[in-house]
Amino acid sequence: MYLADAHRYDHMQYRRSGNSGLKLSAIGLGFWHNFGSVDPFDNQRAIVHTAFDAGITYFDLANNYGPEPGSAETNFGRIMARDMRPYRDEMIITSKAGYLMWPGPYGEWGSRKNIIASANQSLRRLQLDYVDIFYSHRPDPNTPLEETALALDQLVRQGKALYIGISNYDPQQTKAIKAIFDDLHTPYIVHQSRYSLFDQHIADNGLLQTLAEEQTGLVTFSPLAQGLLTDRYLHGIPVDSRAHKSSSPFLHEDNVEHTIKTVKTLNDLAQQRGQSLAQMAIAWLLSQPVVTCVLVGASRPSQLQDNLKAFTNTTFSPAEIDQINALLAK
Ligand code: NDP
Repeated sequence: MYLADAHRYDHMQYRRSGNSGLKLSAIGLGFWHNFGSVDPFDNQRAIVHTAFDAGITYFDLANNYGPEPGSAETNFGRIMARDMRPYRDEMIITSKAGYLMWPGPYGEWGSRKNIIASANQSLRRLQLDYVDIFYSHRPDPNTPLEETALALDQLVRQGKALYIGISNYDPQQTKAIKAIFDDLHTPYIVHQSRYSLFDQHIADNGLLQTLAEEQTGLVTFSPLAQGLLTDRYLHGIPVDSRAHKSSSPFLHEDNVEHTIKTVKTLNDLAQQRGQSLAQMAIAWLLSQPVVTCVLVGASRPSQLQDNLKAFTNTTFSPAEIDQINALLAK
């Protein structure tokens, strides 16, 4: 039987999501990879226990996480039923709809039909009555924003979600849907976006500024660029790594080859700061006030333990920032 660590709240930071009342753990755990039907269940449980014992309260799921799609939610539902049920009120559990989930015209995007059906499916897989945050996973160019917003709002009114988030919306789409949420008094509190040392598009396209102005929280995904910003590939491509696995179509061995020189220099810099590269990459995000929660993935508990030590140094000197920027500009 799992018994949570009595000291789990001693070391984690909790940050308010925008101007809402909800605090998220500054590091969250993502279920995109490593929690599918192809992954060992005991390892999944161990990662969840490690996370919760360290004060992580934010657990990020989506309808399509697996493989196969849906299996990460099913596995998390099993872990909830088996171990975590007594702790439900200490957890922020999220889901999302938007990417392809089932065949036919209703299995993806942002129609009312897709969002309501997908949320109901997710709740069944998760074995939950409600999720804490439900996200629109991506904007739908062919559905009026009002329709998507009203469907999300309905989930809240029905008690199936406590808060609403959006993900992968650009600044214009973000402002437009926020105006609708404001009219509806929907508790829209968070935006989820890719952001890392290697991908700073949300600084370039103005989303960071928009979220700061709107006082909406930011949850950042792929903070380690899917593992590139770690020591994982310093000595080649391990057979059990994401870049090597055929079930991971978004990271290729080519990506490792193209980045390894920069990664090695960043790794030297991290060591000078007394950190692992993963810790430095997370610390760089934690040092930014607009960031509410840095959402990491982990294929084993030891990676999570490494990442959690990012808090030991979240201050960057101007010289370090210059060094990093010069390196990334090359
Ligand atoms: P990361 O950038 O944190 O990559 C995680 C991977 O990095 C791990 O699987 C592992 O790779 C490697 N890794 C992690 N920590 C270490 C370490 N300390 N040392 C060495 N290697 C390490 O995040 P993800 O890309 O997994 O994204 C995080 C979460 O964000 C997802 O699970 C999901 O919840 C969310 N997300 C949301 C999206 C959206 O559209 N809203 C899109 C993508 C992600 P390995 O497996 O090789 O060991």
